[in-house]
Amino acid sequence: MINIPRELDSLTARPGVARFLSEWGNLSANVIGEVKTIQAIPSPTFDEGERAAYILQRFQAVRLLDVHQDEVGNVYGRMAGSDPSRPAVMVSAHLDTVFSRQTVQDVRLISQTERLVGPGIGDNSLGLAALIHLADRFRHPPFELPSDIWWVATVGEEGLGDLKGMRRAVETLGVYRSGGRLGVVLVMEGIGLGRVYRAGLGVRRLRVDITGPGGHSWINADCPSAIHRIVELGAALVNGVQLPDKPRSSFNIGLIEGGTSINTRAALASLSIDLRSEDRATLTKLENRVREIINQENPPGELSVSISVVGDRPSASLSADHGLVRAAVGVLEHLGMPTPEPEMGSTDANIPLANQLPAVCIGITTGRNAHTIEEYIDLPPIATGLQQVSLLLLLAANHCNDWQEWIAG
Ligand SMILES: [Zn+2]
Repeated sequence: MINIPRELDSLTARPGVARFLSEWGNLSANVIGEVKTIQAIPSPTFDEGERAAYILQRFQAVRLLDVHQDEVGNVYGRMAGSDPSRPAVMVSAHLDTVFSRQTVQDVRLISQTERLVGPGIGDNSLGLAALIHLADRFRHPPFELPSDIWWVATVGEEGLGDLKGMRRAVETLGVYRSGGRLGVVLVMEGIGLGRVYRAGLGVRRLRVDITGPGGHSWINADCPSAIHRIVELGAALVNGVQLPDKPRSSFNIGLIEGGTSINTRAALASLSIDLRSEDRATLTKLENRVREIINQENPPGELSVSISVVGDRPSASLSADHGLVRAAVGVLEHLGMPTPEPEMGSTDANIPLANQLPAVCIGITTGRNAHTIEEYIDLPPIATGLQQVSLLLLLAANHCNDWQEWIAG
């Protein structure tokens, strides 16, 4: 087992490494410029093409190898390690935002607090800017990198994207233990510096569609209405789905859609349900309960009901004792930050974790209000965030051979 604190002390005692890290202080201004450029390019989930094209061009400009885009839209670039037989490290950040193309993209600097405010600024313009600038600097590092590094910007991380980009990236590059290339995955999010996500929260999303004949609200007043049924069903679900105290779980009806006009008995209505749990079996139980209620509430008749799965994020967790998790925690401690409690979240890391491929998700700076137009990032900690990723990447490139055993936790 590697002694992480000792390893970090000896690594950072090397003059080349110490200088490389301290230079992030002056370079974070360039990173902030890049963040603003990226933030100004709209990138809703399923429509990331314009932002992907920018990242592709930047990957080419920093002279990565094998720069290309796959058929789902992910952008890849590679850096060759000194020992191609070793497992590779993948560093990723997602391209998509929760905002539509119409969302006003203005960024404001609040100088007193040194904050940058704007939709998607932290989630994930900063992650992408970090990807480019880390790739640029790691191309000529003052130290040896044994493993290949794949830099990947993924599509479809948010909402109904259902992590499709990361699914494809892991499938394409493959897991080292199963004959593929990837040994470790580091997922970057702009916000969340000081946290280490080592586990993927399980998510199941269901969409219920009710359809019927429809009709005039007066002439066909006895015609069954899909909207009336959907609100009854919603009430039955809200009253009938009970959540356990532990493991932590959640139930949410996030969307109700349907109808054509106020004086029409609705022919169509739907609701979308988001279920989450820290535990796989509990999530299955919750889903079964939801399906049971839907079936009870819908006796055979003129209205037909269908349930479709519109999202499925597997739950899986890496032990807090795994070398990669200890390294991520050790790096934060080394940089003088409080010792984090490795936690569970719903990020691109779910996919490698579900494939028993060691992965963590880490943040570049602190910030708040993600997924709102008041989203902001704090500028001063960005340099520390980049030092963090640099150190973790350096450890991963040197030790991912030792980290190939999967330890669930
Ligand atoms: Zn994100």
